[in-house]
Amino acid sequence: MRKKILAANWKMNLTHIEAESYMHTFLGEIGEVDDVEIVMIPPFTSIPVLAQISEKAPFIRIGAQNMYWERSGAYTGEISATMLRVLFVKYVVIGHSERRMLFGETDETVNRKVHSALEAGLRPIVCVGESTTQRDNDEVETVLRRQLELGLKDLSVKDAVEIVIAYEPVWAIGTGRTATPAQAEEAHRFIRSVLSKMFGTGPAERVRIQYGGSVKPDNAQELLRRSDIDGALIGGASLDPHSFAKIIRHAEAVLH
Ligand code: PEP
Repeated sequence: MRKKILAANWKMNLTHIEAESYMHTFLGEIGEVDDVEIVMIPPFTSIPVLAQISEKAPFIRIGAQNMYWERSGAYTGEISATMLRVLFVKYVVIGHSERRMLFGETDETVNRKVHSALEAGLRPIVCVGESTTQRDNDEVETVLRRQLELGLKDLSVKDAVEIVIAYEPVWAIGTGRTATPAQAEEAHRFIRSVLSKMFGTGPAERVRIQYGGSVKPDNAQELLRRSDIDGALIGGASLDPHSFAKIIRHAEAVLH
């Protein structure tokens, strides 16, 4: 049984002061959460305050939105996996479509980051997904296969099971357009079939595949009810503590 994982990607939003007040509201609303895993992914500047607040809420994990693959050195503006690890970060998003589109990330840089994250003890959340044009041209499977084969190249089976995949169709991110549960499930099944070929069926069954793309309180439940959708990566709706708390409650409800 894969534990559902709900992650809040704040992108470049909220100062560390706003983050602190968000967390007080959010924790007050959700109470104790046992059966789903919650990952807060703030900008780097809010990681210390979130780590400190969530000491009292051990079911909350901290994630980072990016990292660089080198351990240290003359890489102005970059942050290494070890720097994140010592701040109690557990997850790191790698290859988000915004980073691919705006910052020139490729499947090759994704692969270098994935290896470096795992080596430092971080669990990568690897984002994959097709653009509108690729979907219109019937290239969804080709794109997903390529992103997985190159992004997860040369991983051991032991490392592969540590990974979370986020299926994020680019046309659904921040647009208000959500993939239907059937579309998401079809893509998730395909992703798992590629993982099976790469790492074997048993390990592929253990990898959690989140859906991301305009998930909101009013569509979360029907997505999370699907057995192949192991959670969600949530951008816009996670910026409001009440709406993220509602999504968590929906996720808990589908389990009971
Ligand atoms: C994201 O940033 O990963 C995302 C899915 O954003 P949104 O929920 O706003 O579409």
